[in-house]
Amino acid sequence: MKINRRFFLGIGGTMVGGALIVRPKKARAVRKPKAPSDPYGCLMDLTVCVGCRKCEQACNRVHGLPAPQVSFDDLRVLEHKRRPNVTAYTVVNRHYTGKLDERNLLIPTFVKVQCMHCQDPACVSACIVGALTKKDNGAVHYDDSKCMGCRYCMVACPFQIPAYDYHDPLTPQVRKSTFCYDRIIKVGGKPACAVICPVEAILFGKRSQIIKVARRRIKNDPGRYLDRIYGEYEVGGTSWLYISGDPFEKLGFLDLPSRPIPHLAETIQQGLFSYLWAPLSLFAILGGCMWTFNRKQIKGNSEPERMEDNS
Ligand code: SF4
Ligand code: SF4
Repeated sequence: MKINRRFFLGIGGTMVGGALIVRPKKARAVRKPKAPSDPYGCLMDLTVCVGCRKCEQACNRVHGLPAPQVSFDDLRVLEHKRRPNVTAYTVVNRHYTGKLDERNLLIPTFVKVQCMHCQDPACVSACIVGALTKKDNGAVHYDDSKCMGCRYCMVACPFQIPAYDYHDPLTPQVRKSTFCYDRIIKVGGKPACAVICPVEAILFGKRSQIIKVARRRIKNDPGRYLDRIYGEYEVGGTSWLYISGDPFEKLGFLDLPSRPIPHLAETIQQGLFSYLWAPLSLFAILGGCMWTFNRKQIKGNSEPERMEDNS
């Protein structure tokens, strides 16, 4: 049988087609959620936050991020809505929802934005090299040594959080809040933002416990709070939780389903790998056969020439 490029592509193409038609059993497997049983969390009380940006400053310091162009004391940055980026893993935004004080002035509400450290994170499921992992303490941890820069995590994140070092051509990284993973693990500490907050707007503790605290505050002061904890159920639950006196949709919070997003990311991933591993393996085997066969042919063809030269 003649093995040539046409034969190779023909067989390979047939196998790819077959693999796409016959769906492997693994692609239908039911996924197991990755949520740890008793993680930490942070409760952000939006009725308490005064928008001082001290949390931004503390985050900048503990992560050794570059100094900002506008000083942390300059609150004019609150005039624009900002997103976390490669030099600021958390930002505070100011919102006006129409509430007035006794002098008829608009009352601002401040919202701290950062990675939500989802219980069952879409970014973790989307990362095909395991650079993002959900830790038992609740942190969604990034390992830059494993990251291959595909940025699937950025596409998958329902909160549009991960940023990328586009300006760094040599060692670009995905950037997002770390939940102060090292501080919690190594020294039993708290996230720097929760420590620094001068008005204790951020409460750090076991997620199950801070949900109880949030429920208690809502129950004890129904005039102050809406009866909702944002992050308790959204996308399967998040480690950052919020309580508020204003409707969350007026504060830039996304209306998300309670179903974890990873289901979609993993279905695509499982499909790709389940469908393509078999044909890719076959391509590799066929490639090996072709290489060996061609080498034999070249060797066979070249032998008589050498004999002629020697005569
Ligand atoms: S430090 Fe506290 S009060 Fe100040 S902006 Fe951050 S969360 Fe709000
Ligand atoms: S908010 Fe986005 S980046 Fe953070 S854990 Fe959730 S999916 Fe991942």
